[in-house]
Amino acid sequence: MARSLFLAVALSYLLSVSASSLSDAAAVCQELQSSLSSASAVFYPNSTEYVYDTTLPASFFNRANATCVVEPGSNEDAALVMTSIRNHNQAPFGVMGWGHNLNKLFSSTTGVLVALNRFNQLNITDAPGPNNQVALVNVGPGLSWDQVYAKTVPQGVNVVGGRFATVGVSGLSLGGGYSWISNEHALACDNVASYTLISPNDSSILEVNNSTYPDLFFALKGGLNNFGIVTNFQLQGYNQTNKVWAGTVYTQPGNSDAVAAAFANFSVNNTDPKAQLIGTFAYGNNSAFEIIVLFYNGEEEPTMFNDFLSLPQSQPTDWSLRTFDNFTSASLATVGFLNGGRTRYSTLAVEGFPTSVVQSFQSQRDALGPKLNALDPKFFGSWTIEPFIQSYWDTAVPSAAPHSSAHVTFPPNIEFTWYTAQNDDIMFDTISNTTQALVNSALAAGQNVSDQIIYPNYAMPQVPVEHFYGDNLPRLRQIRSDIDPYNVMSRAGGYKIN
Ligand SMILES: Cc1cc2nc3c(=O)[nH]c(=O)nc-3n(C[C@H](O)[C@H](O)[C@H](O)COP(=O)(O)OP(=O)(O)OC[C@H]3O[C@@H](n4cnc5c(N)ncnc54)[C@H](O)[C@@H]3O)c2cc1C
Repeated sequence: MARSLFLAVALSYLLSVSASSLSDAAAVCQELQSSLSSASAVFYPNSTEYVYDTTLPASFFNRANATCVVEPGSNEDAALVMTSIRNHNQAPFGVMGWGHNLNKLFSSTTGVLVALNRFNQLNITDAPGPNNQVALVNVGPGLSWDQVYAKTVPQGVNVVGGRFATVGVSGLSLGGGYSWISNEHALACDNVASYTLISPNDSSILEVNNSTYPDLFFALKGGLNNFGIVTNFQLQGYNQTNKVWAGTVYTQPGNSDAVAAAFANFSVNNTDPKAQLIGTFAYGNNSAFEIIVLFYNGEEEPTMFNDFLSLPQSQPTDWSLRTFDNFTSASLATVGFLNGGRTRYSTLAVEGFPTSVVQSFQSQRDALGPKLNALDPKFFGSWTIEPFIQSYWDTAVPSAAPHSSAHVTFPPNIEFTWYTAQNDDIMFDTISNTTQALVNSALAAGQNVSDQIIYPNYAMPQVPVEHFYGDNLPRLRQIRSDIDPYNVMSRAGGYKIN
């Protein structure tokens, strides 16, 4: 009796908290509807724009019915949004670029969804600089990387951004950002020259660069949505007048050992910064196969990928000499399967992919793929290696996300997609366990990765922030409490530096 009374009291408390949170969110929506300029808009359920924004997130887990969607279209309006959210101090909210984080409520919300798609500016200014820099490119957080490349590459300019179509500029850059040109220019966050930031403290519009606000500049390089809302990224642009050799190989089942040997060979021996691959041991449709995306930033056909190109293929490869933007936009088909599925990513840090580590990716796939596919006939799983060259962090700058040439690591990616809610727990447990098995294989290979400082944009939701920021965490906590003394950004989903 006492227990059920306690539960009833606890439940009514929880309901009242969430009811008052949502009424605060509704108050924000109402206030903004009358205060925003015509550059911006507020949308409610059933409108076309609301449906678009709330179903943009790639994963089922990161979709929610927001109280309203706010699309600010100017810095001044974004500042009004921040003020209203700060003043209604229980309103939950979400900040969304292109919704490609897959974790529950990381860029979605049941409160006020701030969708940044109206910030779709892109302009290029000539600005010669080191490492082949030719330009500075202002890019809005409402753009996806394929939209960016479609505009910059025809003008002979490339930026350090995502490798697949529809991934957002802003979430990727704020988390770190692995690119096809990372061997040459490190991570996306290393190549942001300036950020326009709406401060959660007082809604001021700050131009954050190394001269104006060096602490915030450091914090935004990997610090995700903890420091405010970014409305512009000024990116260093590099010469991309050449075409690239690139394409995807889908192997016929039965070639895994040969692929594993070729993965290890490439990972250990490649020193050419223009060459990169993403190598996946995949399982789907009751079949084990490999997907290898090959990239070479030059016009002379390279030979280092011949081991992959000569494998028996289940469909013709599109390996060809093409423009960079043609290649990245073609990847839309590869990512399309995510559309609303129950998808989870996981990652770890490795120092390299020698044979024993590659074989552990293969054996995890071989052991788990059939079992998970038996649970869910539409299951798709991928155990992916992402080798870069040892010098790829040589041009890294001081960042919230620790990455320097003093200790180079690489971010493998594990992904499960399934469609049945009753399998959620087993999928979550299994992806966690397979990640640990891969960590163990790296440790067994003698790699110095026991601290596991990992890439937040590939991580499971429960990973503590210590694993993203390591020794930088105390400094980041101080910067966060200075810029956000009212803890506004803690009401937006995602990993919290508190
Ligand atoms: C198919 C696919 C391919 C991928 N490929 C790559 C790759 O090649 N390289 C790589 O490094 N990563 C890759 N990723 C991971 C990717 O970096 C993350 O999913 C990233 O979050 C995507 O950015 P987004 O804008 O789409 O995300 P969102 O889900 O919109 O945002 C992610 C987080 O950032 C916050 N945020 C977004 N915009 C802002 C802003 N302007 N101001 C403040 N906070 C903001 C959100 O609140 C949220 O917490 C890939 C992911 C997928 C699903």
